[in-house]
Amino acid sequence: MIELTLQNIRLAVRARDKEEAIRAVGQVLVDTGAIAPAYVESMLGRELQANTYLGHGIAIPHGMAADRGLIRRTSVAVVQVPDGVEWGPGQIVRIVFGIAAMSDEHLGVLAALSDVLDDDARASDLAQTRDPAVIIAALGGPKGSEAARPADLEGARHVDVTLREGAGLHARPATFFVEVAARFAAEIRLTCNGRSANGKAMASLLKLGAPGGASLRITASGADADAALAALRDAVASGLGEEEGKRVATATRAWIPVSNGRSIGGISASPGLAIGRLHQLTATRVVVHDAPGDPAIERRRLADAIAVAREQLGDVYEAMVARSGKSEGAIFRAHQAFLDDVELRAEAQAIIDAGHGAAWSWQGAIAARVAEVKQVEDVNLAARAIDLHDVGQRVLRVLAGTEHGATTLPDEPVILIAEDLTPSDTAKLDPRRILGLCTAAGGATSHTAIIACSLGIPAIVGAGAAVLELAQGIPCVLDGGAGLLHVAPSPADLDSARRFQLDLGDRRAEEHRTRYEPALMTDGRRVEVVANIAKASEAELAVEAGAEGVGLLRTELLFLDREAAPSEEEQLAAYAAMTRALNGLPLVIRTLDIGGDKVVPYLSLPKEDNPFLGVRGIRLCLRMPDLFIPQLRAIYRAASTGPVKIMFPMVATLEELRAAKALAEQVRRELGAPRVDIGIMIEVPSAVAMAPELAEECDFFSVGTNDLTQYMLAMDRLHAGLAKQIDALHPAVLRMIDATVRAADAAGKWVGVCGGIAGDPRGAVILAGLGVTELSMSLPSIAAVKAHLRGTSHARAKAVSKLALACKTADEVRALPLPA
Ligand code: PEP
Ligand code: MG
Repeated sequence: MIELTLQNIRLAVRARDKEEAIRAVGQVLVDTGAIAPAYVESMLGRELQANTYLGHGIAIPHGMAADRGLIRRTSVAVVQVPDGVEWGPGQIVRIVFGIAAMSDEHLGVLAALSDVLDDDARASDLAQTRDPAVIIAALGGPKGSEAARPADLEGARHVDVTLREGAGLHARPATFFVEVAARFAAEIRLTCNGRSANGKAMASLLKLGAPGGASLRITASGADADAALAALRDAVASGLGEEEGKRVATATRAWIPVSNGRSIGGISASPGLAIGRLHQLTATRVVVHDAPGDPAIERRRLADAIAVAREQLGDVYEAMVARSGKSEGAIFRAHQAFLDDVELRAEAQAIIDAGHGAAWSWQGAIAARVAEVKQVEDVNLAARAIDLHDVGQRVLRVLAGTEHGATTLPDEPVILIAEDLTPSDTAKLDPRRILGLCTAAGGATSHTAIIACSLGIPAIVGAGAAVLELAQGIPCVLDGGAGLLHVAPSPADLDSARRFQLDLGDRRAEEHRTRYEPALMTDGRRVEVVANIAKASEAELAVEAGAEGVGLLRTELLFLDREAAPSEEEQLAAYAAMTRALNGLPLVIRTLDIGGDKVVPYLSLPKEDNPFLGVRGIRLCLRMPDLFIPQLRAIYRAASTGPVKIMFPMVATLEELRAAKALAEQVRRELGAPRVDIGIMIEVPSAVAMAPELAEECDFFSVGTNDLTQYMLAMDRLHAGLAKQIDALHPAVLRMIDATVRAADAAGKWVGVCGGIAGDPRGAVILAGLGVTELSMSLPSIAAVKAHLRGTSHARAKAVSKLALACKTADEVRALPLPA
């Protein structure tokens, strides 16, 4: 049994509001080593869900069950606020009784506390005393003398139940019990070991001090007594809102340091925890001296060097594709395109003609271009200056006859720090020698981020200049998922980070092992977890990753990187290859979504000032039937090979949906093909506003949160300078998803989400809570999201999403104590 001690009590505390009071009592628990600091946030979150006012000037804040992993040992703390603090309307609290409970050890103290509730004079003594011993004497443990009478209700019926082991009747379960009991008019009592309590009064229930595994009798009398007994029996059987002990024990959130050391925040680029010493990479630049020569010879030297660099880039591209896939390699194709830039070459040649050497001239031309690019207002484009610099250096190295890769790394693997990394630098990294990466510059869409992610190296970008001032070799913990670099962690932190890393490894292995199990939440709600893919070969990989189908096939890739659009036959072959690989699992084919940032040269589309607001997605297809109809034909023909659905992107109006459906229907009839479900992506605010009408005329919705967020917040999704603000968990976006789900529900249609947030385990829980029934994500996220959903209940997800909808900022949503 735990006891109150002097260390756990703070007298004469002032608190302006409830939050300050909870933080004060939480701090006592932190200071006494009972909880990790993050548990205080959980206490605040719990208070948002349910007011913990007990009565007679006493409140009992406590955290959420799922955050029990943040408790180091069961403990209680008392903060006395003699001036009082408002807890709720008309509720003035003077004794704040903070609870961190891993087990039932605190039930005795709680029972003693509830005794005080029956005695106004004692409660007021506690609120004013200057002597902690008075508090210890009053709350030191159960008195035992006030045993209540056994239940004695007239005409009562009863059921006998047993509390789940490890889940005694403390504050959270008691609240849950009272909430269920309050739904019924019947009078309800609860009896345990000869003591009896009013089943609708939380304080009374606490007095029972009923430990986990205890036998209880629930007695009810009144018209709805039977219904009340059945509901309460089920509530007890389901654990009174407490997650299974096993889940709680294994639930680990992001790593939380034990000490309050220094940490530097950046943008999360690649998840994972790296523990090691820092090594700062200083840019190795080729030093160029002007060596004028015969202009004709210098021109040739430059042309030859460019040709060699081009060839090198081809090799890097091939190696990158083999290692990480085509999209990761694409940047090196873009570098080749820089080398083909005739204007750039002409500028360099003009400098040669003015009497300078090849290297000097090339460097001059590149420097001028880099300076120009850095000036452009579009931050995203400006960030591409590093690519130009990278290409420039490559050619200079060829001219100078030096090898790239003089980067010397220490023998032991390190956390690499750099101002920014060129794609070439990143591609050359050997993951075995790099534990983590942190750059001062760069955004979430930078190539460093993409490549680090594909190599599985935890990474942070955009951490600011402070990281460059850190001493070489200093030990750090880099938390890629949280975007935090913890500097010079204490031995206790290092120890806990290592344990966390081991746990994480075990967790990943377990998630992988169970990846084929459905995402069945603890209360039976099922969420379909499917894959986002872009090419035929990924369908098989998706199944291997645990996907239950494909929720988004981005067909654009079939059309990009080529000289002409793929024929109907070619498309059919690709779609049929996917249905074969999926072997009966559903395949949602999104029709072509080009325009915006996805440019297809052979279509020769006019340049637009605002391509994201121009002719993109379904608008473009409706204007180009020669492009659209062959795709629709290929899809309908593929429908005979497996369960295929059609999804139209970027639908903004009902007219667009009708026009697209009419065209699809015409194609279907011509082919004599069977009907297939037709859905739309919800990624434009007008589609949300019109969701009730759109839902009437299509079969499903899939929310594209990447675009919906950019259009809701008016923030370019590729804009590195906005990367920290553009957050799909912003309440504005969540409220749109909520409205979408409600509209779809009313029309009997289902809603999925296929934007990036679906693959974030915490995002997935909120989305499931909002009523989304299908989550589509990139392959590496599938096993983790499934495991995460299996570890929580839909009831809890709903409660969390309700809190999220009520938040005022994205930061508030992210600060919610979401299930780990
Ligand atoms: C989205 O916008 O969320 C989406 C899934 O589509 P894309 O990222 O292909 O635009
Ligand atoms: Mg989109």
